[in-house]
Amino acid sequence: MLAYTYLSPHRFQLVEKPRPTLLDPTDAIVRVTLSSICTSDLHIKHGSVPRAAPGITVGHEMVGVVEAVGQAVSTVRPGDRVTVNVETFCGRCFFCQNGWVNNCTDPQGGWALGCRIDGGQTEYVRVPYADQGLDKIPPNVTDAQALFVGDILATGYWAADIANIGRDDTVLILGAGPTGLCTLQCVLLHQPRQVVVCERDPGRRAFVRAHHPQVHTVAPEEVLAFLQTHTSHGGADRVLEVAGGPDSFQLAWKCARPNAVVTVVALYDQDQVLPLPQMYGKNLTFQTGGVDGCRCGEILSLIAAGKLDTTPLITHTFPLSRIEEAYALFEERRDGVIKVAIRPDAS
Ligand SMILES: [Zn+2]
Ligand SMILES: [Zn+2]
Repeated sequence: MLAYTYLSPHRFQLVEKPRPTLLDPTDAIVRVTLSSICTSDLHIKHGSVPRAAPGITVGHEMVGVVEAVGQAVSTVRPGDRVTVNVETFCGRCFFCQNGWVNNCTDPQGGWALGCRIDGGQTEYVRVPYADQGLDKIPPNVTDAQALFVGDILATGYWAADIANIGRDDTVLILGAGPTGLCTLQCVLLHQPRQVVVCERDPGRRAFVRAHHPQVHTVAPEEVLAFLQTHTSHGGADRVLEVAGGPDSFQLAWKCARPNAVVTVVALYDQDQVLPLPQMYGKNLTFQTGGVDGCRCGEILSLIAAGKLDTTPLITHTFPLSRIEEAYALFEERRDGVIKVAIRPDAS
C-alpha cells in the first residue's frame, strides 16, 4: 500500500509499505477512507518534533472502516465506520481515569499515531487501544463531517469546555485557522453573549463572517480598542489563544479583563514570557493546552444533531497519490486553503 512517510527532517515521501497487521489483542486495523493534513504534520516535516520517528507514516486525522480487531477489542467490530483519535490512551491509568488522557502514562500513550508509530496518510492503519481510540460514526454523519472529530474538533471542544463560558460572557478567540474555527463552533454551543474572533488574514476573517454572521471579526491591531468599546469591564471575560504566533500570547492576556480566564490552546515554536510585574493585580487565571480527546462520542452526536458542521473547512480534496501537491498547497496557504482532505485513489 502507499504510505506518506517521514524519511528525515525536510523529507516526506510516498513509499510502498506492507499492510499493517494486528500486533496486540487491543489493536484494530482501519481502512482509511478520508484523512487530512494538520499543521503538526508540517512541524514533523520541519524537524521540530524530536520524538517523531523517521520511517513512520505521517497523518493523525482520519476516518475509516474497521477491517479487523484483536480479541480484547469490544466497542467496535469489522465493518464499523469510525473516527480515529489523535491520542492513544489506555483508559486505566490515574490520568485516564480522571479524563486527562493527554497525560496517559502507558508507553504507547499520547500522540503516537503519525508521530511515533505509523499514522493515517495511507490506506490502512493499526490503531492501538482501539476501544479508546475509535468512535463509531452515526449512520447520518458523512466521512467529511466526521473528519476532524479526533483532532482539531476534539481540541476546540475541550478548549471551549475548560474555558467555563457563561451566558453573559464576551469570548475572544485569537486565531481563525482550522483549530480556531473548530474552537469557534464549540464556543458558540455555550451561547455566550458575544464572540469576537481576532485574525490577521482578511480571507479568514471573511470566512468567519460568511459562516457565523453573529460573530465580530477584528484584526490584531484593532482588537484592544474594539474590546474597550464593546465590553463593559475593560476586556474579554474569556480569551482562547489558538493563534500561536510570535506576539499572540502577549495579546491574549492584554485583551483579558481583570479576573478573566485565559485558555492557551496554541502550540508555540518558541518559549513565551509571562510578564508577572506587568499583569500584577489583574488576577488572571491561565489554563494551558494539550487536548484530552476523550469526548469524541459526544462530538459525533452533536454533528448528527446538526449542531456542529466543520465540512466548510475542507476547501480542497486530493487523492493519496497526489498528496505531495496537497502538502505544498497547505504549507504555502495558497488558494484560500483551510483544510485539505485526502481520499484513497479509486481502485
Ligand atoms: Zn493535528
Ligand atoms: Zn492511561
